[in-house]
Amino acid sequence: MKDANTHQQNGAAIAPFYLPQGDEVAVFEAAAAHDLPILLKGPTGCGKTRFVAHMAARLGRPLYTVACHDDLSAADLIGRYLLKGGETVWVDGPLTRAVREGAICYLDEVVEARKDVTVVLHPLTDDRRILPIDRTGEELAATPGFMLVASYNPGYQNILKTLKPSTRQRFLAIDFDFPAPELEIPVVAAESGLPEDRVKPLVRLANKLRAMKGQDVEEGVSTRLIVYAATLIAGGMPIERAILTAMIEPLSDDADTKRGLLDLVTAVFG
Ligand code: ADP
Repeated sequence: MKDANTHQQNGAAIAPFYLPQGDEVAVFEAAAAHDLPILLKGPTGCGKTRFVAHMAARLGRPLYTVACHDDLSAADLIGRYLLKGGETVWVDGPLTRAVREGAICYLDEVVEARKDVTVVLHPLTDDRRILPIDRTGEELAATPGFMLVASYNPGYQNILKTLKPSTRQRFLAIDFDFPAPELEIPVVAAESGLPEDRVKPLVRLANKLRAMKGQDVEEGVSTRLIVYAATLIAGGMPIERAILTAMIEPLSDDADTKRGLLDLVTAVFG
């Protein structure tokens, strides 16, 4: 698989490869031009993180990405006092750094974070654009260029883990889904190095597996998993082994379900 990170060449950032699904590039650019926060909705592994990395490089803004989890607190984002060589020093968190530098701060899976995080986001996501730092008494005005981007997977059916309307109504939102086959095939080919004609049946299989979502499996096969399967095949692994490892085992632990999914493999690959 190719390196997904932004490469520096002659001092200029080269945007990581991203194939647009629709007009999301223009929408993001408009949001950035008007200092508006944006929410990317969609299933895991469909290209949201890659899209943000691509847009940050295109816009020439630094990017701070935070993978949110249920223990992530406001202090993790804002910063804290740390002991360094016997002295107590303040260390900015990623959100504070982004606010100071006029960077993009990307909160991946924001609903996972603790409740106190949303309180911090409110004054940053309206026309005040400020970050109050209680610990230091500072009230930081966001540097032009600062942009808050958050992602959210509406597929997780957990009533406790939806965004409150008071939070979500502060963001523009773009709905993502897995790319249509005519886009997903070139994406997987470009990412894995496997020729398009060999990627085609993998994408066909993925769409059959996605159709099973909600019956036996919770989430459909992500574009990421197809890239993994194609990467293994391009590296010489037999197709059936690569599919089992990258597209079946990650979906389910249940033997009956897996047998059902394998029947689909036989249907596609014969
Ligand atoms: P998400 O953030 O939605 O969970 P990612 O952005 O990490 O998903 O996407 C997973 C992988 O899928 C990426 O690393 C990339 O290889 C591939 N991918 C998905 N969509 C695209 C796209 N439109 N253009 C380029 N790569 C894509």
